[in-house]
Amino acid sequence: MKGCFMLSRRDTLKLIAASLGGLLLVRCAPLPFSPSNEAGATPRPASPAPADSSLPSRADVLVLGAGMAGLSSARELTRRGYIVIVLEARERIGGRTWTDASLGLPLDLGASWIHGTNGNPLTQLADEAGVKRVRTDYDNITRYASDGRELSAREDADLDEIFETLEELIAGWQEEFEDDVSLQSAIQAYLEAEDLPVETLRKAWYAVNTAIEHEYAADVSDLSLYWFDDADDYGGNDVIFPGGYGQLVSHLADGLDIRLGHVVRSVEAGASGVRIQTDRGQFEADKAVVAIPLGVLKGQDISFNPPLPAEKRRAMARMGFGVLNKVYLQFDEVFWEADAHLLGYVSERKGEWCEWLNLAPLVGAPVLLAFNAGRFGLEIESWSDEQVLASALSVLRRIYGPDVPQPRGWLVTRWGRDPFARGSYSSLMPGASPDDYDTMAAPVGKTLFFAGEHTHKKHPATVHGALLSGLRAAREVDD
Ligand SMILES: Cc1cc2nc3c(=O)[nH]c(=O)nc-3n(C[C@H](O)[C@H](O)[C@H](O)COP(=O)(O)OP(=O)(O)OC[C@H]3O[C@@H](n4cnc5c(N)ncnc54)[C@H](O)[C@@H]3O)c2cc1C
Repeated sequence: MKGCFMLSRRDTLKLIAASLGGLLLVRCAPLPFSPSNEAGATPRPASPAPADSSLPSRADVLVLGAGMAGLSSARELTRRGYIVIVLEARERIGGRTWTDASLGLPLDLGASWIHGTNGNPLTQLADEAGVKRVRTDYDNITRYASDGRELSAREDADLDEIFETLEELIAGWQEEFEDDVSLQSAIQAYLEAEDLPVETLRKAWYAVNTAIEHEYAADVSDLSLYWFDDADDYGGNDVIFPGGYGQLVSHLADGLDIRLGHVVRSVEAGASGVRIQTDRGQFEADKAVVAIPLGVLKGQDISFNPPLPAEKRRAMARMGFGVLNKVYLQFDEVFWEADAHLLGYVSERKGEWCEWLNLAPLVGAPVLLAFNAGRFGLEIESWSDEQVLASALSVLRRIYGPDVPQPRGWLVTRWGRDPFARGSYSSLMPGASPDDYDTMAAPVGKTLFFAGEHTHKKHPATVHGALLSGLRAAREVDD
């Protein structure tokens, strides 16, 4: 698969959308979640088919992007009586929530969790849609040293202490430091001054990688010491969907007029309305909601006329958009700790195959999911699937011995190379501040409105933040 995601062992395509000429009127039908549907997967024809001329190209509001933010906005606007058309580049909806079924079971290539179920709007949505959830327990973890040996109870307790110390140190530095610096430089300076044994250093970087880099999808060298963890938390459990996030997406999209395979190229906004140029024709409306990922906006893949305000462009440049990538390995049977929810590996070099989710106790399948973020997460995007597998298996064989078999199926994500995401989610680099989220959210004139996880100051980088941002943009349109 070209570009972003390299996925193997795909099942046959069921390209419902294509047969509808790019229009998807979603009616809670199962979605075509094959990875091969990805616009980045199969080279697009030089001139995509023009849009179906029998379909309207004018609406009250055009929503650009059919991720959680765009869909929640479109649904709310429709509820408020607006005629809405959603323009989506890919041949599927959901954006960075993407449930793939090509290995014979639903596996999420983007978001997996509802982070903090208490009062979370996703909990309500999941209840409404009747979608099953399973709690993951981060304390139910088995951890291994870099030589593959399981950590003793004492070593495990030491590691927990390192996590706590790290948290306290960072909180202290956030108060003490006169200037913002990268989290990396603060941590590095401290560790160097402490002159710690190698294995303790590895544990410290393991803690940094799994607790920070995986959560913020960025290398610590790209995170602001002051602000990286400023967002709010709902509290409560973290849950995943055994049937996939796609169920929620599908529920949200029910009945909306979504034009798949429409890549937005330019946005022209004037006092009388908006004109959107896609690779399959032009659309017009009174107003538009731009629910396009920050990575795509940063890459200037869409031209705005007039250009976006300088303040917005500066905020965009300051904000980060790093990667968290996933590797699913499907085996015939479980050869690891059957009951542990997580497996931890204290790698020699920071952030290499440090965290694995065990799907066996969660969804009843012999599948492991590895996470890699920051420097290493980005580095392996340029590797072939075979190289990625060899690297992952070398770690599993170090832990579980040479008899660890080849997986019978695998999925490897490359979100940084995805042309319609260009990264995993937003973060705050040194020099950025949480106000940048508000700047990204601010409407331009009376016609252009903005949604997306990168526009939600309280809950950025999450699915619920995206959902809430879409609702906010819908209210702003209606004001
Ligand atoms: C690997 C990974 C794991 C994650 N894990 C979690 C998690 O467990 N929990 C959690 O809460 N969050 C998680 N997130 C973050 C979460 O997925 C995102 O914050 C959220 O889905 C973003 O939604 P959005 O609507 O803002 O953007 P998107 O979902 O990216 O939607 C934007 C849409 O715009 C479309 N688009 C882009 N360019 C164009 C164009 N030119 N023309 C037309 N359409 C275009 C895209 O195709 C996409 O459909 C994860 C993300 C990743 C990548």
